[in-house]
Amino acid sequence: MKKSVAIIGGGIAGCAIARVLSKYDLDIHLIEKEADVGWGATKANTSIIHPGHEEDAAIHPLRAKFCVEGNRIWRKWAEEMDIPVSWPGELMIALDDGGMETLEHYLKLGEKNGVEGLEIMGREEIKKLEPNVNENAIAALWAPAAGLIEPWEACIALAENAADNGAKMHLNTEVKGIAVGDGKLRGLETNRGFMKVDVAINAAGLFADEISGMAGIDDFKICPRKGQYYLFSDDAMPKVKRIVHMTPTEKTKGVYAVTTVEGNLMLGPTAEDLDFDEKEERSTTEEGLDYIWENARKFLASLPPRNKVSKMFAGLRPEPPDGKYIIRAYESPWGFVNVAGIRSPGLTAAPSIAEYVAKLMEEKLDLRMAEKEGWNPFRKGMKRFSRLSDSEKQHLINRNPQYGNVVCMCKEVTEGEVVEAIERIRKLGAGITMDSIKFRTLAMFGECQGSFCRSRIASIISREAGIPLWQVSLKGDGTEYGIGDIKVLQRREKDEG
Ligand SMILES: Cc1cc2nc3c(=O)[nH]c(=O)nc-3n(C[C@H](O)[C@H](O)[C@H](O)COP(=O)(O)OP(=O)(O)OC[C@H]3O[C@@H](n4cnc5c(N)ncnc54)[C@H](O)[C@@H]3O)c2cc1C
Repeated sequence: MKKSVAIIGGGIAGCAIARVLSKYDLDIHLIEKEADVGWGATKANTSIIHPGHEEDAAIHPLRAKFCVEGNRIWRKWAEEMDIPVSWPGELMIALDDGGMETLEHYLKLGEKNGVEGLEIMGREEIKKLEPNVNENAIAALWAPAAGLIEPWEACIALAENAADNGAKMHLNTEVKGIAVGDGKLRGLETNRGFMKVDVAINAAGLFADEISGMAGIDDFKICPRKGQYYLFSDDAMPKVKRIVHMTPTEKTKGVYAVTTVEGNLMLGPTAEDLDFDEKEERSTTEEGLDYIWENARKFLASLPPRNKVSKMFAGLRPEPPDGKYIIRAYESPWGFVNVAGIRSPGLTAAPSIAEYVAKLMEEKLDLRMAEKEGWNPFRKGMKRFSRLSDSEKQHLINRNPQYGNVVCMCKEVTEGEVVEAIERIRKLGAGITMDSIKFRTLAMFGECQGSFCRSRIASIISREAGIPLWQVSLKGDGTEYGIGDIKVLQRREKDEG
């Protein structure tokens, strides 16, 4: 009989593992407590595919190995799964002599890690690569291998591809307990009942310490480390051509300026250690945002006016003790695997982590990892109307008039795309929510942040999902918008109250 494997957590790590394991003759189950994949650390980060020159292999061997390999694997995966990426390269800027020593330190680290194309350059060459660098920059470390990716789209693509290859998706399913007997994993207690599995891979991000504790392994804690950001509107100028940041500190790679794959300038993040019990604390603060602004001004010649900021937001890094990834298969309970503390550069590292986990299962758990026939590495991304030529747009509208109805003006998203997103969400077994539409179509991501299109999109969801308008939610149960007939809402409140 096929061995059954549960992956707990549908972030970038869990989804990458699901995709890699879907190659083998195993019964794969991805379990995610939210209505959709990618809503944990994966949805709010700097979106950089790091080259690997900032990882010290002597201190963090796994991070260094996975980062360099992950950067290489993403090139192939992005092509196979039609994931939006760009490869602008990165400039680490030194503003003084101390900074110069740091550049040399990272050049050496990078060379040891096998990062290609690293080069220290002077002000004239920097200006050619990035005209918006401040005059006081004395030198920079150029890393041409650095890239940018749409993190949520990457996560969705991995989940879709894994599902196409037979992995079963369990969204809105929360692991509440782990059953262990005679030193072996027996199964998972979830809000939807008991699930008997042979292997459980814990990729629960910020909550990986709690899941590990349920299996009787409670020797580490995951601490949230907050990162705040500014995201600018499409027309905010000047943007940056490269990924730019100042020399890092021991704790953080520092404030970055990037132009996202979608073409928006983004500044951030901060690095603020929170308490263990603050795993949902994603507020932005005046202090944090001012810190980003002041730091960005140190290395950028000019910034767009603040009224061009379209969004301020924060993400939480799942920070392990000493910054070390905890990736281990245990002898007791046999069948339990931790993929915990996947802090930065986890987005970059995820493909390589997933391949490592497949090896662990073979070597440490003695699973026969037989490749199955007909595994399909390809997945086609969503049609993005705004990226088509005029003639392609016309052709699409002729075939389906829903593509002629633009619902989100800021990002030029059409009804046809919203309907396609709903079909994909349904196929994945995810919740048809406003956020799951947003992350697939980019509607509500623009300057007006949804104030124009929210009700239109809610109406399409209501029509396609066959639910009343007031039941359309932001991200699942308990987050209903309550759009619609006020009398219906009042009656509902009365009935419930
Ligand atoms: C501010 C910031 C900037 C960053 N910048 C970069 C960068 O530029 N480049 C880079 O490479 N990395 C970056 N990172 C790191 C990267 O985002 C993370 O390493 C990566 O997203 C972690 O992925 P994950 O799958 O381990 O965790 P997550 O994405 O958090 O996924 C864990 C999932 O588990 C689910 N879950 C939790 N508990 C349960 C349960 N009981 N039952 C079922 N499901 C559960 C959660 O809902 C969640 O979806 C950054 C991170 C942050 C926060």
